[in-house]
Amino acid sequence: MKNLLGKIPAAIAGKLVEREENCRICNEKTGEQIAVVDYWDIKTSRLIKCPKCHHIQLDPMLNDAETSKGCLAYYIEESLRISKEEHIKNWIRNFRRGVVFGYSLKSKKISPRFVLELGPGSGYFSAGLQFVFPNAEITVMDVNREVLKFNREHHSYKTIQEIPDNFVPECAVNFDLVIARDIIEHVTDISKVLTNINRYLTPNGYFHFLTPNGHEDMWKHYLTSVLTNSPSELLINHVNYYDGKGLSKLLMQKGFSPVDYYTYNLKTTLRGAGWKKNKKLMSPVSKRTNADFFINEKVQEISSIDLTKKHVLNQWYVQSRATWLTFVYSIFKHFSIVRINPELNVGHEIYGLYKKE
Ligand SMILES: [Zn+2]
Repeated sequence: MKNLLGKIPAAIAGKLVEREENCRICNEKTGEQIAVVDYWDIKTSRLIKCPKCHHIQLDPMLNDAETSKGCLAYYIEESLRISKEEHIKNWIRNFRRGVVFGYSLKSKKISPRFVLELGPGSGYFSAGLQFVFPNAEITVMDVNREVLKFNREHHSYKTIQEIPDNFVPECAVNFDLVIARDIIEHVTDISKVLTNINRYLTPNGYFHFLTPNGHEDMWKHYLTSVLTNSPSELLINHVNYYDGKGLSKLLMQKGFSPVDYYTYNLKTTLRGAGWKKNKKLMSPVSKRTNADFFINEKVQEISSIDLTKKHVLNQWYVQSRATWLTFVYSIFKHFSIVRINPELNVGHEIYGLYKKE
């Protein structure tokens, strides 16, 4: 047992290479190559680890046109792969997570009034938050028009079409809380994004994020590289792989102080992510999947989900007159007892709640 614990997470080694672009966090010019990845048939790039700050990112980075093409292809691929029932289940799950998050704020005596969510997806996480704080006003920012349309029609949120890397002046000092769940692994320039978020917050505002543990997330690509010596497939644009220590240091540099910072969910770790050299854990060897095929042909197979919010939330435990029931059930489904320091780089996801200093 002691032996095994010493191996988790495994140290990774890559050959020293010249980077095309400097590290976006610390501006370092050298790097270690962890893997070669094909982003669809759009771009071949490398995962490069910074020897100074340990951040792993795509080098060269995807440009905006490549990202939006791949994201559209992925959106279509995922819509076809996941059934309508599964989509709705995910929405309800996110609603419950929003409820749990809302109550965790309440227990800290935090009551946000103006909330900005970056990349809201279905918008049901913020809907859960709004269930706890009925007076909260939600604004969502996304680059995808369909996502914004859905959020307006389902939730009546205010919408802004923009990417998190670009500063939106009318958002400055406007929000008590900014939410970015499963977003920061996708952004081109994390330094810029955190600066923007800080500027959007009111004094003493809060920033909540969720992001994969970079060490486990890159493990599948690392394995493909060391076990097959081939490029691996990258269909979802994870272009950043965060080191727990490096991320917390960056957040502090950007003017945030930690309230909650932990990793949870050890299922992936127990299965071997981050330490076990097993072919089953590899990312598939790249087939250079054709993005245009999905965008031009498969798109016709998508059927829209025309359900109202009232129908989606028609669950026995969602009761506006007995909110305690909603809370107890949501906690029962989603509360994580095991909380680990992200600096150990163990566990599936990193949860953060930070305060603007
Ligand atoms: Zn660096």
